Amino acid sequence: MGEMAADCSRCRGLCCTELYFSRCDGFPADKAAGVPCAHLTAGFRCDIHGELAERGLKGCMAYDCFGAGQAACEGGGDFHRLFRLRQMRWYLAQAASLKPCGGLRDELDALMAESGGAEDIDAFQERVNAVLKRAVALVCDRGRPRRGDLAGRRLRGDETAGRDLSMVLLIAANLRGCSLRGTSLLGADLRDADLSGADLSECVFLTQGQVNGARGDEKTKLPPALRRPEHWGGGAARRGT
Ligand code: SF4
Repeated sequence: MGEMAADCSRCRGLCCTELYFSRCDGFPADKAAGVPCAHLTAGFRCDIHGELAERGLKGCMAYDCFGAGQAACEGGGDFHRLFRLRQMRWYLAQAASLKPCGGLRDELDALMAESGGAEDIDAFQERVNAVLKRAVALVCDRGRPRRGDLAGRRLRGDETAGRDLSMVLLIAANLRGCSLRGTSLLGADLRDADLSGADLSECVFLTQGQVNGARGDEKTKLPPALRRPEHWGGGAARRGT
């Protein structure tokens, strides 16, 4: 899935230009789509890159384009469409790599092959979502939590391992030391969730953007394909100078 890792050095700051964003979502100001952020330099770098955490710009820190930025800059095409297709491809590739999903392999491969030329992207997304739902059911053997809103809650290991936490609100939840083995985090909102000491090495459908928006420490274990964010104290690439 290396082709879907964002490489800001090959992009002209599309995420900082093409997206609508607002201050209340952790961006520097309210801004319309298509307008460059005031902090984007002429060389397409962020002039406050080193201060994003200090300034509390969590939206900037969390955003990840699945490589749509460099793809649009180098190969042409609409950034928003490329983002959606690449995000779907990332999830399909992840599902195809999971042993319990072996029976879905043909469907996943067919959708992957179709993704490049999908005309009706909303209809295609519905089909992808349906097969991903089945993939999650195959991986998670302990079902969904009773509530879909676990924001701010302290979770125990038996509330996380093997659970389907897809689309669950986990904003500022405390998952310190939890095991998320066999846990689906597809679309879960992990902004400000505390993952210190948690083991996410064998969770599924966890994206770089979710990791970037959460908190963690040197003991947090991540799946091998994901980078440790620099605001956790490690090294990670964001749009820098
Ligand atoms: S990363 Fe920097 S340039 Fe991009 S939106 Fe955030 S503050 Fe603006």
